[in-house]
Amino acid sequence: MTATETHASQWHTRDFPEAARDLLQDSQTRKNVQHATNVIQGKRNKVVAELPDWEELRESGAQVKAHVLRHLDHYLTQFEENCTRAGGHVHWAADAAEANRIILGLVQQHEAKEVIKIKTMTSEEIGLNRELEAHGIRPIETDLAELIIQMGKDRPSHFVAPALHVNRAQVRAMFQREMHLPELGEEPEDLATAARIYLREKYLRIKVAISGGNFLIADTGGLCIVESEGNGRMCLTLPDVLISLVGIEKVIPSFEDLEIFLQTLPRSATGERMNPYNSTWCGVHPGDGPKEFHVVLLDNGRSPILADREARQTLQCIRCAACLNACPVYHQTGGHAYESVYAGPIGAILTPQLHSMEEGRSLPYASSLCGACYQVCPVKINIPEVLIHLRGKVVQEDQATLMGKFSLWNIGMQAAAFLFKDASRLAMAERIGRVGQKALVSKNGFIEWMPLMLSGWTQTRDLKAMPEQSFRDWWAKEKAPGAKPADRSDHA
Ligand code: SF4
Repeated sequence: MTATETHASQWHTRDFPEAARDLLQDSQTRKNVQHATNVIQGKRNKVVAELPDWEELRESGAQVKAHVLRHLDHYLTQFEENCTRAGGHVHWAADAAEANRIILGLVQQHEAKEVIKIKTMTSEEIGLNRELEAHGIRPIETDLAELIIQMGKDRPSHFVAPALHVNRAQVRAMFQREMHLPELGEEPEDLATAARIYLREKYLRIKVAISGGNFLIADTGGLCIVESEGNGRMCLTLPDVLISLVGIEKVIPSFEDLEIFLQTLPRSATGERMNPYNSTWCGVHPGDGPKEFHVVLLDNGRSPILADREARQTLQCIRCAACLNACPVYHQTGGHAYESVYAGPIGAILTPQLHSMEEGRSLPYASSLCGACYQVCPVKINIPEVLIHLRGKVVQEDQATLMGKFSLWNIGMQAAAFLFKDASRLAMAERIGRVGQKALVSKNGFIEWMPLMLSGWTQTRDLKAMPEQSFRDWWAKEKAPGAKPADRSDHA
């Protein structure tokens, strides 16, 4: 088993703290993640600084996306009409099972035993590869990073650079083994050439391709995919049948709106001024590209997010991953700690919502709320705001259960709320606390250990002891009308 194969289990098996604890022991993966995110972030900062109207572009992107979400039914219907008119077939999938059923049916209809794929996190979201394999169909990833993930039986840890946690030596060992190339060198050119030769034959032979989509364009019925390797262009043009699986939130009103996103997406995602390959296409055209084109519009938990006014902005995401690269938590743990297809800050808000708050409930807490994600987001999603909103939901849902209601944590919080509501109660609690802490305060004035439910606080940090005098007492003594100022000679 390779190092990367150890992550090959299913998603959502552990809570974030437990998974993060394990990954923090893996110094090689942490080194790989930190190096890669620092490089991408440095490039992103440089190319963003070149644009004097960057903030206006962010604002425009945010407004376009927010507008679409308010009128999603209209734009999706418009997209369907225009796509169908251009010769495409539009399918609606309410959930992962329906999307898998549709795609599997289309592949089987063409008696394909193999399909080529362009990187699509949406297909990871619905577990498409597993479904195809279960029915004897071999999916072949053509994006280099996704190919590495597939060969290593690994899981993506970043949605722009899925194999960011794997280094060059690990890739070489994998290619030597899987492609039967014992003499393969370690230079990037050697690895890219090996992948190119391996994939070229597949582009020319396999008749069905599966893609995602960066943007659905309502006024033309077209799709747009941006990528850096040209594998996408091969998959979009050479096979006879193209099936594109796209989340319903990816629609934009018009072709002109691409002007904003084709500037902000590459700069935010890979630190490039523009993507090397920007493919836009519309329906089918005799003698040019696939003869048959299908779009599967995926809901899979997006509609309830749309209905939540405070969390709706989550759906503005254009999956650039800038928030992952900027996040201090992601830097330390990498993507696998999130146990989710979508990692990092956006994963922390998207994953639990896609699963009706039944999975990934620990993720809204996987943040220091520093706001770095909000600052870099090209569509201005206020991730900290949504994180707090979701934390509130988790607490409310927990309190609604009998176990949650009578948990030590909830009783403690209710007691704290009772004390904080009234100044005299709080003052009394402080007086008791001052006496009670005496047994715990060490010589340096800090508390290094606390009992029971408070122990979590001192597990990773010391707590400053309560001062002898509270601010309220000091104010009453010094500043209240008629109070005599204290003798300050000892502070002179
Ligand atoms: S939340 Fe913003 S920064 Fe993060 S991936 Fe989505 S668009 Fe990019």
